[in-house]
Amino acid sequence: MNPKTPISFEFFPPKTEEGLAKLDKVHDALSERHPEFFSVTYGAGGSTQERTINTVLGLHAKGIPTAPHLSCIGSTADTLHYLLQRYKAHGVKRIVTLRGDLPSGMGGSTGGDFRYASDLVAFIREHYGDAFHLEVAAYPEMHPQAASLDADIRNFVHKAEQGADSAITQYFYNAEAYFHFVEKVRALGCNIPIVPGIMPITNYSKLARFSDSCGAEIPRWMRRQLEAYADDADSIRAFGLDVVSRLCEDLLSNGAPGLHFYSMNQAEINLQLCDRLNIH
Ligand code: FAD
Repeated sequence: MNPKTPISFEFFPPKTEEGLAKLDKVHDALSERHPEFFSVTYGAGGSTQERTINTVLGLHAKGIPTAPHLSCIGSTADTLHYLLQRYKAHGVKRIVTLRGDLPSGMGGSTGGDFRYASDLVAFIREHYGDAFHLEVAAYPEMHPQAASLDADIRNFVHKAEQGADSAITQYFYNAEAYFHFVEKVRALGCNIPIVPGIMPITNYSKLARFSDSCGAEIPRWMRRQLEAYADDADSIRAFGLDVVSRLCEDLLSNGAPGLHFYSMNQAEINLQLCDRLNIH
């Protein structure tokens, strides 16, 4: 594998001082693999707003660019201006631009000025020009609320038309879904880079729960094998490393422009994957 493969790592904002101190160490370990950027997630409805800002600005100041995730559903234009102006003032140049999901309990009402991620992309382009590189989300296995895969792909292309620069996908374990998605997007004349999101495997029950909620499929043969390992954490990890590194090799050798790792704020499993892929 090409040691210059562009990579990035995603973090979530820790809840405690202890978590922040641990993340600092994870960040330093992963920095040695020269990622293009780190990103930090944003809780549904802005629930992690201050923690996301503090984590982003703290990491960004250490040298490698850090991109905040920013979701718009349930937000007002004023809140988004507040965040975007703060980020801009601190030299942040990349935003992962999302619709997000409403926190449970808010019913069906969006209660804000924005409906889709494409609205946020258009808003940022209108008010901030080219100050930010805008990433958007892509779903090779279809966003769970989309009317159909084709409708979802058209909606994705619309985000690019509103000014998105590149995309990161939801994780998947079926490379064909990614290639099919990219082919369909290209057929609609959209050429922005679509970087696969990669979820390492360390804990089967957590992964299964999360995959059910976000619509990512764990193929049946993988489920069967992972279930057979039950509580044998070493075997799950070893199997996960084999499967995920093969997936990454397949993606990169067939044209994926880079890899975005859902790091889960862990260093070791991500470093092991990078080793397997010869990313130093
Ligand atoms: P959109 O692109 O707006 O799409 C949402 C749905 O609406 C899709 O079904 C789409 O087909 C449909 N749609 C879009 N436009 C239209 C239209 N004009 N008419 C009709 N239908 C339309 N969530 C968080 O809360 N915090 C995070 O930090 C976070 N980070 C993420 C990072 C990545 C890389 C990914 C892939 C997801 C992330 N998510 C995060 C999850 C994301 O917020 C959810 O998947 C959310 O449900 C959709 O957000 P979106 O930006 O993809 O929405």
